[in-house]
Amino acid sequence: MREPIRCTVCGTATLVRVQLGNVLMSYTLPVPCRGCETNMIVHVVQDAEQGTHDVTFDGAERLSSKEEVAFQIEASSEFVVRLTHAGEKISVTPYIRVCTLAGTEAVVMLFQRLGQFLLSCHNDWVHLRRVNELWLRGRTDLISQMMQAEFFINPKITQSKLDILMVLHHLNLRFLSPIADSSSLVNYGTEVLREISQLPPAGLKSIITTSDFHRYADKLFAQIDKYVAIFPRLVPAYNLTIIDPWKLDDEFFRDYGISSIAFEDVKSYYLDSFEVLGDLLDLVVALNNLKHRGSPEAMLQIPGSKIQTLSEFRQTTTRKMEYVKHGETFDKLLGPILGTPYRNAIGHMTWRYEPFTQVITMLESERAPTGKDITLLQFADLVRRMFGVVLQAWELIYHLQKLALIIQGETMSKELPVWLGDAHRPKPHRTDAPKRKRGRKKKKKK
Ligand SMILES: [Zn+2]
Repeated sequence: MREPIRCTVCGTATLVRVQLGNVLMSYTLPVPCRGCETNMIVHVVQDAEQGTHDVTFDGAERLSSKEEVAFQIEASSEFVVRLTHAGEKISVTPYIRVCTLAGTEAVVMLFQRLGQFLLSCHNDWVHLRRVNELWLRGRTDLISQMMQAEFFINPKITQSKLDILMVLHHLNLRFLSPIADSSSLVNYGTEVLREISQLPPAGLKSIITTSDFHRYADKLFAQIDKYVAIFPRLVPAYNLTIIDPWKLDDEFFRDYGISSIAFEDVKSYYLDSFEVLGDLLDLVVALNNLKHRGSPEAMLQIPGSKIQTLSEFRQTTTRKMEYVKHGETFDKLLGPILGTPYRNAIGHMTWRYEPFTQVITMLESERAPTGKDITLLQFADLVRRMFGVVLQAWELIYHLQKLALIIQGETMSKELPVWLGDAHRPKPHRTDAPKRKRGRKKKKKK
């Protein structure tokens, strides 16, 4: 859909090419003006049933469609967009472009999953979030009835705390599976469980009884809840999951960007997740100490560091990251994400953003560049991957919480393994699932 508009601030005319959505029916996109570099805003409301759409602008007025316009810009709530140079004309739509890059079938399958997730965010998360909150607040007395009312869970399998934790974990995984790469998450869980079960029992028990898993789970849950809230604006970042990695080179990120978010929208998610995952360092280091040196207290010796014991490590605030960069077993969880070099510049607000190249320049101070620039699309993708690490950390904490309950003498009801077995069995393919309307797709090709 093409709309010539004029900026009400500086009078510059721009041709906005809006890609209508597959799964998002109501959205707001910022459109930077070449003349004054401030954002005009486009609001789109689509009616999937009627096949109609309504587009309105803030900070811009419509021009007649015959008017010659010097600047073109793409806007899409779901696809990566072309970052145009002044005077550049665009010939294909974002949808066609991503189909060309990734294959139409991959695009259709991706949007089926994302659509399913958006639907369950709308229908299920409100209830599932409350069940999680009840668990985190220790109100197990209310969970059983809520699980029965909202998720048809037989109260026989939510008798003990251990039951509730396991059923809740299953419900959470089921909810997140469309966007969480659930097979790799389950594989990670299996691997973690295997590693934990091989640890020396006395050391493991001491880690479990001295750790506050509830606090970790509480903070990780808050990051999951925040991600669910920003997810609709991160949809274009999921395009990258279906494009061959070798195509995602520097040139790709020079040519393509994301128009559905502002840096402001996602940077706090990055900072908060960084802090929450950083909090897990003490636990990860304790597990590494036990696995590689036989005791939770036995620290890795690092040149130039005087830290000898876990207690000393817990009290220090500097150079903690260096302890998870040596390829030890539990490093895998945090290393790649906490190793990203953007935290300080973002935290200290020493970054600059250029709206047409979408390059975020990270500065050491007001003037000194760090050479660690990133584009908005790359940053959105980093946030997506960071969410994956939050989920893995949540998985690790889940397994440790389960062990903590077993140590406390909690038992599982007899019916639960049967239910879990059934619940994990693949469902027969549903042939009555609603098909996406074909008409909607055609319209986008104009
Ligand atoms: Zn302007």
